Order: sequence, then C-alpha cells, then structure tokens
Amino acid sequence: MARIRYRVRFPEPHTHMVGVELEAEGVTGPSRLVMPSWTPGSYLMREFARNVMHMEAADGSWRPLAVRKADRGSWEVDAPADGVLRARWVVNADELTVRTSHVDATHAAINGASVFAYLEGRTDEPVEIAVEPPAGWRITTAMEPAGENVFTAADYDELVDSPLEIGTHRVLEWEVDGVPHRYAVWGRGNDDPARLVADTTRIVQAERDLWGGLPYPHFTFILHLASGQGGLEHRNSTALLVDRFSFRGMGYESVLGLVAHELFHAWNGKRLRPEVLGPFDYTREAYTRELWVVEGFTTYYTDLVLRRAGLITPQRYLDKLAEMITRFQQQPGRGVQPLEESSFDTWIKFYRPDANSPNATISYYQKGALVALLLDMAIREHTGNARSLDDVMRLLWERWGARDVGFPEGTVQAVLSEVAGTDLSPVLVPMLRGTGELDFGGLLRTTGVMLSRAEPYAGPGMAGLPAPPPPREPETGMQLRVEGGRLVVAHVLAGSAGWRAGVNAGDELVAVNGFRITSPDTLQQRVLEAAPGSTLDLTVFRRDELVTVRLPAVTVPPSRLVLRAVKDATPAQQAVLADWLRTTVPAAPAAQPGATSL
Ligand SMILES: [Zn+2]
Repeated sequence: MARIRYRVRFPEPHTHMVGVELEAEGVTGPSRLVMPSWTPGSYLMREFARNVMHMEAADGSWRPLAVRKADRGSWEVDAPADGVLRARWVVNADELTVRTSHVDATHAAINGASVFAYLEGRTDEPVEIAVEPPAGWRITTAMEPAGENVFTAADYDELVDSPLEIGTHRVLEWEVDGVPHRYAVWGRGNDDPARLVADTTRIVQAERDLWGGLPYPHFTFILHLASGQGGLEHRNSTALLVDRFSFRGMGYESVLGLVAHELFHAWNGKRLRPEVLGPFDYTREAYTRELWVVEGFTTYYTDLVLRRAGLITPQRYLDKLAEMITRFQQQPGRGVQPLEESSFDTWIKFYRPDANSPNATISYYQKGALVALLLDMAIREHTGNARSLDDVMRLLWERWGARDVGFPEGTVQAVLSEVAGTDLSPVLVPMLRGTGELDFGGLLRTTGVMLSRAEPYAGPGMAGLPAPPPPREPETGMQLRVEGGRLVVAHVLAGSAGWRAGVNAGDELVAVNGFRITSPDTLQQRVLEAAPGSTLDLTVFRRDELVTVRLPAVTVPPSRLVLRAVKDATPAQQAVLADWLRTTVPAAPAAQPGATSL
C-alpha cells in the first residue's frame, strides 16, 4: 500500500525551527499541500500555516517543482514527471501549549496538526515518520515504532492524534491489567513520581470499572512542567501542561483532575463521539451541538472518578460540586446562552472570550457537567437507583464507542430516556435549548444532599450579647485582575452595582473616596463599611483619563453555596448516596441557621 513518508529534524532546536519533509509516490497530476487550520479537541481556527516558511517541492530526482500559495492554508504543486512528490518546509514552533508545538534547546514537543501538512485526497493512507533527534534525545509517542526513530500511523488522523515528546525527558512506565502506561515528564518541579504513578493507577482503575475495560493498547501521558494548566485528549495519549510546583496540596488535586479528565476522553470524546468529531476536515470548523456530552459529561465524571478512586473524600467531592454550582449561578450569561448554542458557537465564543463573555455565554464544560448531574439523579429517581448515568455511558459505549463509529445527533438523548425507562425530554430539552434556572431539587430528593447558602454560624456573641447578624458580602459585580501592579477591571457583571454605575472593563481602579486602592480586598472592605444606600466615589483611569464613578454600596447575602447531607435522610436516600459516591457522607454536624434548600 502506498505510504506517505515524513521526516522531521531540529538541527538548531534553540531557534525553535522544525524542518519537515514529505515524500509521496503515485502522484500523477498537480497536487495540493494543506496545513490544518485547527487541531482536534481545541475548537479554534489557529491557521497553523502562519508558522510555515520556505515551502519547496521537487520530484523524485530532486528536480524543483513550482509551488504556489492557493489559499490561507494550502499550496498547489505542479505534477512531478516521475510520480514522486517531495516537499519540504520549515515551521516556527515556539508556543508552549498542549495544542501547539514547542521546540527549544531542551526539547521538541510536536503537535502534529501544527507541523505536518497533508497531501489533499491522501489522508487515508498509512504514514511513516522518521525523526532526526539531536544527540542524546529520546522520543516518546503513542505511534507504533518501526525502527530506530521511525514510527508508523494508520493514517494522517493518527499522526495528528499522536503528539511526540523528543528530548531528555524522564519516562515512568507501569502496567494496569497488563496494558502498558507511561508518563513522559519534561521540566522540573516538585513532582513525586512514585505517588503520581500510584494515584494515576487508581484513576485508570476507576475509569476502567466505570466503562468495563481499557479501550487502548497502551497509553502515554506527556506531562509538561512549566506554568499554566491545560490538557488535550488523544486516543492513546494525552498532552498535559501543569504548574511545575503544583504537586502538593490543592494544586495536586487539580493535577489529578486533569489526568482523570483527559484519560476519560480516551472513551468519551475520542472513541465515543459525535459523528462530526472524526474523521476530521482540518480546513473548516467541526460544528456540533453536543460538546455538553463530550466535555460536560467528562467534567462531571472527572471529580466523581477522583472520589470513586478514593483520592478525595465524599465531602470534598460535594464541596467541589458546590463550588461549580456557585460559579455557574454567578454567571449572568446562563440566562442568555443555551447549552447547545454554547457548544455550536465555541469556535467564536468559548475559545475567543472577551470582556462581555460572563454576561453573554456559559461554559459547556460547567453547565454540561451540572446537566449530567441532574440527569444522573433523574435516572436514579425513575429507576429506584437500579440505573444511573453510568449505565448510559456503558450502553453508548457498547453501541457506538466500542465500534469506533461517531453517533448521529440526538443519540445520547434517546439512550438517556431508554435507560431511565421514561421520556426524559421534558427535563432535558429545556436544559439544552433554554436558559431557565437549573433545578437542583432532584439531588435532595434522590440522595438527601441539600444545596443551601453558606450561612456562617451565628451563635451567641461576645460576653453573651446577641450575636451580630450573619455577614453580608459586597456585590460590586466587578471582576478585577492585577496587571503590573495596577488594579484593572476585567469584567463587569450585567445587572450588578458596577454595571449600573457605569464601570467599564479596562478601567484602572485608582482610589475609593479619595484613598488609593491597591488590592481587590480594599474595594470589598470599603463597600462593606459604607452605609446601606450610600455611594462610593470610585476614581479610575479610563483610556488614561481620570474619571470618577459613583458606585452604589450594595451588599447581598453570601453567594457561596454548599452541599450537605441532611440529618434525616431516608435509608433509600442513603443508599443512592452510597452508590453514587461509593461511600456514605456523614450528615451535617448541626442545622445551619437560615439554611434553606434552593
Ligand atoms: Zn476535555
């Protein structure tokens, strides 16, 4: 069978340049070389051709062929007389994210879509890639080895789906159920390799138990220790970027969450997937209304897997869930953008956020996860806890994922109702296509876990005097960021005090009532101390001009929500809770004053 051959080299890695060659036989006419515009799993047109230089072509005898740029991402090449096309180009790879490539003196991290142009019409053919690493560098990739520094992929999609880590990285190898797993770790930090492998093993086992087996022949975690956090899913591997010093305390919980999330995509997203998500057209947007399944359900299971793997306590799971609900309830965009639309428009909205995003959009990760929670509860309620969302995932896996065929739109909706034994559309459709408030009552009914406001304890006050009223919190609606020591407004939430007062995103806060403010806390404190109904003079630089805004001093009850198991949960509720979290949750220690179910 014909084979497309690539060769990559980094003669001067410190310059960030990657040299790429492509060789194809059986080229009988003019052809077109195409650089992808996007990389699967990350829904933004990145136009990778912008990093390409020196595109040249020749025939099998190295006689030059004319190359013409044909559009923003492709080149037309004249027909070679001998049927062999050779093309070569140089890519500037200097972007350290999981969706791009990064080459420097320490390593070459290659994301295929950003480096390998393809020959139009020949993406189904097997691919061979030969790497010429600098002396002393090793290569880690999920592609099949086929000789020294040579790898093969079944087709172009597999090449692009198999990032390469090339350098002096550490490799940690172990097996789960006889299936090889490994980490390739680039960079230094406070990681504990033995603990990371042990905890990752528990995550792999928890996900295997949910789905009923491991879907891949081997799995590679490419882990970059630098700054920031991100992950990109692949079929037999994943690329992860975390803060180098995030392996202790809460930071480590977030690392494990990233691991659990990206691994979950080996099932949900890469194999079990909407039909538009593979095979791919790399030149145009892959529109889908179902990222609430791909990302939302994965996000729901991320923390649930950490809980079921015993890596977080049941109450910690509920706390994280309550944090997610709190953040969602604070986002005015939930009344504007339906969930399906958030998925469909991700190319122009979620991946291209601006100052107005909190007011106009929601995250399909976040709302999708909350919808998954409510569906899980609805199924348990309708079936007396005989079935759950886990059964939906397994049935979808059996029918679509295991066959590795994309499902048509609406499939998940139908299977949800099938497993519930009742038509869930009246519950589900408004959550997908409407913008009404989510109803968390099912959580209380089913599990005896109640959502309430985080009212602080208000017992007897000092020296037996009556306790002060529970504190309120300032509601400025201004989300601030510190930029080079300056306090700048990032977002102004629609309808808030700051919004009504005319604060603008981009305003630099200078003073409140004539006194300098240097931290977000100072503003909060001044609002709390102001008399109710009064206003504060807020001095800001707006486009370098001093402007004073009169900010109403508004306070509200605490907006943070908490989830607690109620004391008088029924045995049935306790049973569902135990099955859901694979454990029991102690009831809240004392009734909280003013706590009301939401
Ligand atoms: Zn994801």
